[in-house]
Amino acid sequence: MYQECSLGYNKTYRQVIDNFLPNLADFYKRPSAYRVEPFRIFGNLYYVGDRKVCMHLVDTGDGLLLFDTGYRNTSHMLVQSIYDLGFDPHDIKLIIHSHGHFDHFGSGNEFRALYGAQVAMSRVDTELLREDPRRALMHLSPAPDDEICWPDIEIDDGDVLTLGSTRVRCQLSPGHTMGTMAFFFDAVDGEETKKVAYLGGVGFLSVYKEYCREYGLPENKTELLKTSIEKLRGEKADIFLGNHPNHNCTLEKRQWMIEHPGSDPFINPEGWSIFLDALEARRADFERLGY
Ligand SMILES: [Zn+2]
Ligand SMILES: [Zn+2]
Repeated sequence: MYQECSLGYNKTYRQVIDNFLPNLADFYKRPSAYRVEPFRIFGNLYYVGDRKVCMHLVDTGDGLLLFDTGYRNTSHMLVQSIYDLGFDPHDIKLIIHSHGHFDHFGSGNEFRALYGAQVAMSRVDTELLREDPRRALMHLSPAPDDEICWPDIEIDDGDVLTLGSTRVRCQLSPGHTMGTMAFFFDAVDGEETKKVAYLGGVGFLSVYKEYCREYGLPENKTELLKTSIEKLRGEKADIFLGNHPNHNCTLEKRQWMIEHPGSDPFINPEGWSIFLDALEARRADFERLGY
């Protein structure tokens, strides 16, 4: 049986960084080893990400909406995944980047150049990157000279982005980054509608005080995250999405779907609050350990 989510174990900032880098070198050498066959989550909502980072595609009836473009070295896999689902990347009208880190906007510039899509990201993260581009963490990647994907649309708290029949409500949810956004929208399958919630930044690497000092960010991120989690609890969702696959156990749920045809573990009205409980428990650990 799959879990709802796993948010990792307690390590020091240094241990997390030391683990992150070698792992990434292998991924840059042979990205295809991290490929995931794209699949339908529900109705017009699809998974087009890989084993490292989540990407989601919504067929809005008037063009495609893409949440995140992953790492720069996986553009070809994303293109392939979109074609494999029977769609055409030329139909992408809007790309929404979840937050201002290089592993989520990495292929955005290529997609905009090739397919003409408009790119959106939170205003807060965009301004923080203008002030200091190191905050995108590109220098930690094997391609430190890659360019930031600057958005055409800067999203503010409460904005609604509309494409076709899809309305995406955006809620500023600082914690992972200061400008991390949560997104709420409906996925539809014929007459059936499911509420989808997506917190676009979950990992704790960027919550460590040491990290915040290094990048000139406020050191009270655990407090900010607490407020964000409390606000997110006010939302109901039938489906919640991961920002990286471990956040909602994307790959385990996918495996479950394959082994149990006709079932869809992504649909779970309890999942969102289980996820928020796990996030709050991890946050409280951070606070207790003084990270
Ligand atoms: Zn991030
Ligand atoms: Zn990330």
